[in-house]
Amino acid sequence: MHTVSQTATEVVAETVTDYPHRRVGILGGTFNPPHLGHLIMGQQVGDQLGLDEVRFMPDAQPPHVDEKTAIAASDRVNMVQAAIVDNPLFRLETAEIKRGGKSYTFDTMKVLKAAHPDTQYYFIIGGDMVDYLHTWYRIDDLLKLVTFVGIKRTGYPTTSQYPVIWVDAPLIDISSTQIRKKISHGHTVRYLVPDAVAAYIEEHHLYEQQD
Ligand code: ATP
Repeated sequence: MHTVSQTATEVVAETVTDYPHRRVGILGGTFNPPHLGHLIMGQQVGDQLGLDEVRFMPDAQPPHVDEKTAIAASDRVNMVQAAIVDNPLFRLETAEIKRGGKSYTFDTMKVLKAAHPDTQYYFIIGGDMVDYLHTWYRIDDLLKLVTFVGIKRTGYPTTSQYPVIWVDAPLIDISSTQIRKKISHGHTVRYLVPDAVAAYIEEHHLYEQQD
């Protein structure tokens, strides 16, 4: 049993050694910042597929990808941690952040699967990404490592040329882009991100300088 006083990072380390036969959801993203849409996705997939845990896996975005929105990876990790720490289903997966640089999902999942071959991985993606699966690096090999789970997203189709389990979650029209924009215009993001994330953003003056 995990206590909320443990950090999410500590819980990951404990989990992977304690339980070899797990069904684990992976929600990869930039989380710049994490928002209620991400948490609802994780919770709905975890619940509907009966997963043992759902891991939020921030990517290691190189800062030059978009100078306007680039923030330190550590800030994204801290915000994810703040967002998930009170949910016993949720964990932080730092594999990509630790490796640094651009990570292909195939490479990351190969490493995770090799470390825990008995774990069944469910890779959770928003409906905006499902249509682009054919562009993913080594998609056919990745499909042997994970089962894809799609979450409907406003304005995107729910069809796919690849096997995807569609989970019926409420459509939440929130994006990190929208949140960054609101903050830069001095608008509130209350109820769009968890209170702890809003507090972190305010304390660290994130996203205030964009247009
Ligand atoms: P940005 O606006 O910066 O592109 P984002 O809101 O899409 O960010 P990401 O961290 O890039 O957030 O998303 C991680 C994953 O969550 C992706 O698979 C994305 O499609 C999905 N996702 C994010 N928000 C939603 C949402 N409101 N509904 C469904 N899927 C979502």
